[in-house]
Amino acid sequence: MRSATIVSAALPLLLAFCLPSVAQSKGPCTCQDIPDIEQRLKEIDETRAAWQQVLTQTFTNQSLKTPGQARQAFKQAMGWGSGPTNQVGGLDPNTGDVETDPAWESQHCDAVVDANKLHEQTHASDFRLGIPFAVILGAPAKALALSEINARDKEEAFLQEKLEELEQKCGHWRCKCNGQLYQGAEKCAASCPPPSMSCIAPTCYEIDPKTGKATGKVH
Ligand SMILES: [Zn+2]
Repeated sequence: MRSATIVSAALPLLLAFCLPSVAQSKGPCTCQDIPDIEQRLKEIDETRAAWQQVLTQTFTNQSLKTPGQARQAFKQAMGWGSGPTNQVGGLDPNTGDVETDPAWESQHCDAVVDANKLHEQTHASDFRLGIPFAVILGAPAKALALSEINARDKEEAFLQEKLEELEQKCGHWRCKCNGQLYQGAEKCAASCPPPSMSCIAPTCYEIDPKTGKATGKVH
């Protein structure tokens, strides 16, 4: 399952694989990578919702204690079944260093890869540099769920910013009211603010990506 690739190991003890530390993306993100970035953001959002569900369960289900049990609950929340998941990142069990899957990285542009690294670095600082309260209280399942949510918040914020930069560069339709560029007339029309005193007729017009000038087409 494609969405299974999002799963990242959080605790060193969960790390079931060993990867070389040097890995590379397929290169800088281009306009063609926008759908992949959007897909990744969707995965982040869906898996975070599942971890939020797990976190809630740790308060109501007393037998949900270990990180392993939390991961099972997460898979259940995702509807993935009990088979192994394809992890794209984790922390080295000995050094705590961030390790990510080079085969996965080679299929994605650098913003996606960097965001994934940031995700793992967040775990590293959650678990290595600062011990969360949940661990002190003997609740590693809670700690894992909290760290997974935190890591996704950071990953999402980073990737969202990169996506917006790219959209400004790649967008071909400009909203007359806010001056922003969008990919496609429909997306522009949906994002253009409603009519107001300062912009009575919010319309979108097409920009020629080569010249940067209006083509004359409006939407
Ligand atoms: Zn994670």
